[in-house]
Amino acid sequence: MNMISEYINMKQIHDVLIIGAGVTGTMIARELSKYKLDTVIIDKSNDAGNMTSSANSAIIHSGYDPEPGTNKAKFNVLGNKMYPQIVKDLDVEYIPCGSLTVALEEEQLETLKMLQERSRINGVPVELLSKEEVLKLEPNINPEVKGALYAPTAGVIDPFNLVVHAMENAIDNGVTFLRNHEVNNIKKENDYFVVNTNKEDLYARIVINAAGVKADKIASMIEEIDWAITPRKGEYYLLDHYKAGLVNRTIFPLPSKKGKGILVSITSSGNYIVGPSSELADPDDLSTDAPTLANIKASASLMVPSIPFKETIRVFSGLRATCTRHDFIVEPSKTERNFINVAGIESPGFVSAPAIAEYVVNELIKPVMKLENNPSFNPKVKPYHRMHYLSEEAQIQTIKENSDFGEIICNCEHISLGEIKEALSRSCPPVSIKGVKRRTRAGFGKCQGGFCQPKILLLLAKHYGVSPTEIPLNEDGSYIIDHLIKEAK
Ligand SMILES: Cc1cc2nc3c(=O)[nH]c(=O)nc-3n(C[C@H](O)[C@H](O)[C@H](O)COP(=O)(O)OP(=O)(O)OC[C@H]3O[C@@H](n4cnc5c(N)ncnc54)[C@H](O)[C@@H]3O)c2cc1C
Repeated sequence: MNMISEYINMKQIHDVLIIGAGVTGTMIARELSKYKLDTVIIDKSNDAGNMTSSANSAIIHSGYDPEPGTNKAKFNVLGNKMYPQIVKDLDVEYIPCGSLTVALEEEQLETLKMLQERSRINGVPVELLSKEEVLKLEPNINPEVKGALYAPTAGVIDPFNLVVHAMENAIDNGVTFLRNHEVNNIKKENDYFVVNTNKEDLYARIVINAAGVKADKIASMIEEIDWAITPRKGEYYLLDHYKAGLVNRTIFPLPSKKGKGILVSITSSGNYIVGPSSELADPDDLSTDAPTLANIKASASLMVPSIPFKETIRVFSGLRATCTRHDFIVEPSKTERNFINVAGIESPGFVSAPAIAEYVVNELIKPVMKLENNPSFNPKVKPYHRMHYLSEEAQIQTIKENSDFGEIICNCEHISLGEIKEALSRSCPPVSIKGVKRRTRAGFGKCQGGFCQPKILLLLAKHYGVSPTEIPLNEDGSYIIDHLIKEAK
């Protein structure tokens, strides 16, 4: 054996390396964990789902809107059918509430008929409702409404836990997750890729590019590409769960070229969400601004005039990975069969992710790599204790078994110490305050962490055995405490 081949043999060459741990990457990782493979998933962030997958409307769209024959239509419709089982396996909050697309003008009824026809071609069950039927279902909709398209198979999901639990399930089934690994360069050597990151060089026979708004950057590390990501920012209001019934499902206006429009919806946690806008933006721009928010308010109030915006607990924004091809790209690169782009995954990317994952594995990986079933694959995550959802007897029993579940840390959302400790003990634990928030909802309520954040910060510091000055709010470096005046107990 010469020096070079000896050197190569020392390297760990992974079977598959996924770039990006959003919903697309984590679903692909989970799908791959069904097979005996050495799979690694990396992200430049310190957690799974920190980018677009945690800042969206979280609607499991029915598929009434994408143009028939597109990847968006195909994966949306397939993905929608997969969710009822996925949310059971991954223990994720999901409300199959349905959606209404409303016509506020007489002429818009024609567009509803066009959407009804699209739904028929896409194989999505829908129903055209009269004004009276709409107002019976949703009494707070503008009484001037002329009709609506009802899509019963739409739903709303907890997007944070979906991604984290998919990651956790993939890890439990043998996948490796590397955080804080930013890809800087990729090159092909022999029959594998060398993926250069800020931390180390990684080697893999197949690389999957699921890098969201940065997917064009990653794709062009391999070859010249004829597409680009032109991100579109969507800003939102998130309202407190102040009372039930403002709306009972997702209410859309008519879609336009910019997207599905500004919606008003319940969320899986009983809050209300209003947005998103749709404006071209820089791929790192997650700001919100007053004029855009004012437009959202005006637009949404046309559909639901009584939205109590004074109940707003947060405004935020997310970035759509809008692609110049105007469709999802799920295909190998032109020059490298083993480099797979999963790019341009804008809306309806969340609902589509599990179907995209199946396609990537069955249609793009299976033909180039022998896949042997993983006999110990378990589709389910360990159940979580969510005290809020338990019956009183079950709560009492849980607290008897472990008193941490009786100590409330987040008063707004009633999240206990036990739930936070449980999140920290799992295979994809949080490393930041927002990581705890996304997993447990601690800090999600009216005070937005004003009271519980210091406690969570100390809990994280204790758990990881570091100084509180080293605990970030979100990404590494976003530290809250500069230095300690007195030693924290
Ligand atoms: C405003 C808005 C509303 C939406 N509403 C819906 C909806 O209701 N329903 C729906 O189905 N879809 C919706 N979507 C779309 C959905 O959110 C996205 O399609 C989905 O989250 C994309 O997931 P992803 O994993 O492809 O990208 P991301 O979640 O962005 O993940 C990509 C990951 O790649 C990582 N990364 C990037 N560059 C590098 C690098 N160089 N090295 C290492 N890692 C890197 C990032 O850190 C990130 O974690 C919406 C999107 C937006 C913005």
